[in-house]
Amino acid sequence: MTLDPDTCYRAVVARDPRFDGRFFTGVTSTGIYCRPVCPARTPARANMRFFAHAGAAEAAGFRACRRCRPETSPGSPDWNVRADLAARAVRLIADGYVDAHGIGGLAARLAVTQRHLHRVLVAELGAGPQALARTARLQTARRLLAETTLPVTDVAFASGFSSVRQFNASVRESSGRSPSELRARAQAVAERIAANAPLSVLAAKRTVALVAEQPLSQAYEAAERIWEPVYRSADAQEGPAAFREKRPPTWTGR
Ligand SMILES: [Zn+2]
Repeated sequence: MTLDPDTCYRAVVARDPRFDGRFFTGVTSTGIYCRPVCPARTPARANMRFFAHAGAAEAAGFRACRRCRPETSPGSPDWNVRADLAARAVRLIADGYVDAHGIGGLAARLAVTQRHLHRVLVAELGAGPQALARTARLQTARRLLAETTLPVTDVAFASGFSSVRQFNASVRESSGRSPSELRARAQAVAERIAANAPLSVLAAKRTVALVAEQPLSQAYEAAERIWEPVYRSADAQEGPAAFREKRPPTWTGR
């Protein structure tokens, strides 16, 4: 896949969501790489490098941005539909195939030599299978740290690392923080978003927690109590406009 720098640059300036997952921007002045939709200030063009895959950005020494969180970008549709060797390898690596079967297993599955596989991936994506697999593990780990309460040790193994030591070292190397620091940071961001959220969002969150911990019949009654003030609130009177206005400035969801 060839990336046209002019097209990429325009997409970054416009924060064009159609390009989300299709490429990543490494910023040489900060050493951070971002999604095209990153809400941070657009860097100078001379400082931008474009990558077809997050793994290539990481292999070039860039760290994942903590604002746009590249691990949460939708996979590029190209990798999901293409039938060629590179795309099939990318899909298998994303599914953890290398963690379970090694690079040799991946090459065998694709019926090519390891050398050929490496050459094709470097030519198409800018990173070999080892680097891509490492990025896939780190992306899963960052997601699990931010979005679950799984103990850190469980996160390590669930994301495909073979030891906690290796997990700690990789996370620190790629983010500059320990796993616990990453989690604390993600929680702080979630709390900041919650503090700005409309009542209805908070009620929905509490309802989900309720259903998880109580039998449905009891959860139902408790949920009615949670939602009563929401129906009486200004949120309900004002409708979607109020919701839009209360979005925190860092919101990147669509
Ligand atoms: Zn970013």
